[in-house]
Amino acid sequence: MFHIPSGILQDMIAHARELAPHECCGILSGKNQSVAETYRITNILANMSDGDLSRFEGAKLSDLQRLSPEERADIAFQMDAREMAMAQRDIRSKELNLIGFYHSHTFSPARPSQTDITIAMEFEGYRQKLNLPEPLHLIVSLEHTDKPDIRAYRIQDSQATEVQIQEISE
Ligand SMILES: [Zn+2]
Repeated sequence: MFHIPSGILQDMIAHARELAPHECCGILSGKNQSVAETYRITNILANMSDGDLSRFEGAKLSDLQRLSPEERADIAFQMDAREMAMAQRDIRSKELNLIGFYHSHTFSPARPSQTDITIAMEFEGYRQKLNLPEPLHLIVSLEHTDKPDIRAYRIQDSQATEVQIQEISE
């Protein structure tokens, strides 16, 4: 069970709505199982060339290749590496941990896509070398515009398992 202050849940929904129809993305910091802060990170997919798309596979890749760079950010995300590094420095300076990542699904349910699982497994590769805690993956779905849905997952061995989150009122 992870605890997330309601203000942070509201902020992630606001971020998703601001960026829609593009996917938003960001980082969550905190201690143990409690989220303390979020960092909004730029989704750089809108500015990526075709050559950079190689990490996406199968159906997602052919979808992405058909779209303009601007439209690609509507169905996928990639975080700006420099902003991620800055956020991680800030998290360390506050003696907090990186708890997880969040991104939005503008048109689909709050479930990890195959590409989300691929990206999570890539992160797993160097997470273990860097001895970082296992991250939580949160998805904010705007599929039902007036009723956003936020769900959290652990992603291990290419399998996503839902983790319960509890909203903490401030
Ligand atoms: Zn996704």
